[in-house]
Amino acid sequence: MQINVGVSARHIHLSQDDLETLFGKGYELKPERYLSIATQYISKERLTVRGPKGEIKNVAVIGPARPQTQVEVSRTDGFIIGVVPPIRLSGDLEGSESVTLVGPGGELLIKEGLIAAMRHIHMTTADARELGFQHKDYAMVVVRGKRSLVFDFVVVRVAPENTHTEIHVDTDEANTADLKTGDVVELLHVNDKKLRLEQIINMFDERQLRVLEESISGIIKDEKRRLAMMEDILKVIAK
Ligand SMILES: [Zn+2]
Repeated sequence: MQINVGVSARHIHLSQDDLETLFGKGYELKPERYLSIATQYISKERLTVRGPKGEIKNVAVIGPARPQTQVEVSRTDGFIIGVVPPIRLSGDLEGSESVTLVGPGGELLIKEGLIAAMRHIHMTTADARELGFQHKDYAMVVVRGKRSLVFDFVVVRVAPENTHTEIHVDTDEANTADLKTGDVVELLHVNDKKLRLEQIINMFDERQLRVLEESISGIIKDEKRRLAMMEDILKVIAK
């Protein structure tokens, strides 16, 4: 099944308390643009994220306020500020990294809440039913092109409010696979929770792998022979 890609740039979700610490008492976020998950919006507000080795300015704040503050950055961002964000699902923050947020009204050291978001698919209940996926299953997604690859361990999140099925990756993953928001990728109908790509590869023994390689190079040789024949015929016709 073909699904759309959404690339998540670094962003921050704030609790109401932390929002007021950073922007002032009683402050409310001002929506700038609503996201593909229509209850969420990018606000007009921006913050600086500061770590032991550096800082990143102008980081978007996503509204509305949440129970706990969460800062989502890429591993590359982590190098800039000098921390290693653990790869976590949104909301799974226990023992995650600490970071300082700087706003116009003050600054705030959060003890935990800095993560690199785990890639995931927002799936409609209809697609989940049709494809046999359950909430929190893992999926495999094939990306075509010059940086072709298979994303394995893509967590499926099924929710009634999802209006379409879409994969979300961070900017590091998008760059690795040469993807941008709106691109189309292939979701495989492999929905066994335990069966992962490396196990599928391990299913072939040495002898079977050699047979596979030989048959692939056989197909390529045949194709080349056919092309050469066509060229010869074209030369004859051209004369
Ligand atoms: Zn998402």
